[in-house]
Amino acid sequence: MDTCYYCGLEIEMPFECNYCKDKFCSEHRLPENHRCVKLHLIRAKRFGEKKVIRGSGTGRQDNIFKKIIRKLKR
Ligand SMILES: [Zn+2]
Ligand SMILES: [Zn+2]
Repeated sequence: MDTCYYCGLEIEMPFECNYCKDKFCSEHRLPENHRCVKLHLIRAKRFGEKKVIRGSGTGRQDNIFKKIIRKLKR
């Protein structure tokens, strides 16, 4: 019997994280769900693949807010 590295739940068939190699329950097997120590590396990789280098995504939110404000003004 193994235990989830994140929540300590006992699991018969633990999921192993491909990145940090720790064992997790089905709920926490995804890097996002167990605050994987490699998460920032995974994200950096994903961003690199898509070539999205426009800040950290806050710019998009700003644009949405501006659009909403414009609509309200009309
Ligand atoms: Zn868990
Ligand atoms: Zn992990």
